[in-house]
Amino acid sequence: MLEIIIPGSLKDIWVNVPVREPFAARSCYRLAHADGQYEVIDDRQGFRYAIRLPAEPSWYGQLTSRGLPMHQIGVLQGTYLAIYISNLCGFWYHSPRMNCSFCTTGLNLGVNESALKNVQDVVEVAQAAKRESGVTFVHFNSGNQTNRDLDRAAHYVNAVKSRVGALVGLQLMPTRDLWKYDRLIELGTDHFSFCVEFHNPEYFEKFCPGKARFVGQETFYRALEYTSRQLGKGTCSGEVIAGLEPVEDTLKAIDYITSVGAFPTVCIFRPTIGADLEDSPPPRYEEMRLVFQHVYQACEKNRIPIDVAPNIEVSLVVQPGDTRYLAPRNLESRWYDFRQALLRLVARPYFWWNRRRRKAQGSAELSY
Ligand code: SF4
Repeated sequence: MLEIIIPGSLKDIWVNVPVREPFAARSCYRLAHADGQYEVIDDRQGFRYAIRLPAEPSWYGQLTSRGLPMHQIGVLQGTYLAIYISNLCGFWYHSPRMNCSFCTTGLNLGVNESALKNVQDVVEVAQAAKRESGVTFVHFNSGNQTNRDLDRAAHYVNAVKSRVGALVGLQLMPTRDLWKYDRLIELGTDHFSFCVEFHNPEYFEKFCPGKARFVGQETFYRALEYTSRQLGKGTCSGEVIAGLEPVEDTLKAIDYITSVGAFPTVCIFRPTIGADLEDSPPPRYEEMRLVFQHVYQACEKNRIPIDVAPNIEVSLVVQPGDTRYLAPRNLESRWYDFRQALLRLVARPYFWWNRRRRKAQGSAELSY
């Protein structure tokens, strides 16, 4: 995978580009380099687009005080720090395997990352990423940890909030014990994200057998609704994959997510090498364009704040703010854009305050 930045008049777009998969070799887009400038060339008409490649962060080469390479603890994805609390996912170890069909997490374990992150390592990496890369947001992610995810996450949230000072997001398996979200909010969690993946229950069951059997689609929805209510409009997100279920279902997912005050993040299905679906075709451009136009329209209709938090650009999924390029140029969209710009300005002190280091609560020093 290759991360590129496409400069634009409304905003720069961060994109994670597939390069190793066979379908990528058939792409009409080609990366070229000349005189220190990178370009993407569209071989159909010969159009050329200047792009940038983000530099590798200097702290990737540093070690934590426990001697671990920092890039094994966390990586920049776009402009935020992404940390897998653990990339062990219980669904991969179930017999028979119950992993999601598009996933390759179980193949990577121990190759690129350490299995379970130590809190001290996480703090040191987050401090380095904030100091040297200007990171404002730390995002914790994990596969299925059999309902221990949120308990484990509490230590990391507490440590980052008290020893680093950054916005913190969690993307973990949802729980029906909704009180656990209250505890995480008390500790300072700013954002929750829920990977429901599919809106159509049949596709959810077919492609996410572990989630369907042990968690349930309803658990994702109830957790999203609850956390959105607790944290406020535009703070939480529902994540879906576009390109496997019928496009009408993806549009319904976007409608649902925005109707509960959350923002949709949409991954374009990628037949990754090694995934159960590696031989499936990638989705069609026309359908994806429709999906992302709908993201913009649904956010506009439900007045969801987009691109308000400072310095959070994402390459792995398409953010609602990226879809501004597909917005109809009319009075409504201009008014919506104007309100977002105003909100960005007004919200600055709020985000500054939320990025302060705060007093640790209880067991911040616990480590794994
Ligand atoms: S929950 Fe699904 S997508 Fe997430 S790590 Fe496990 S198998 Fe992969």
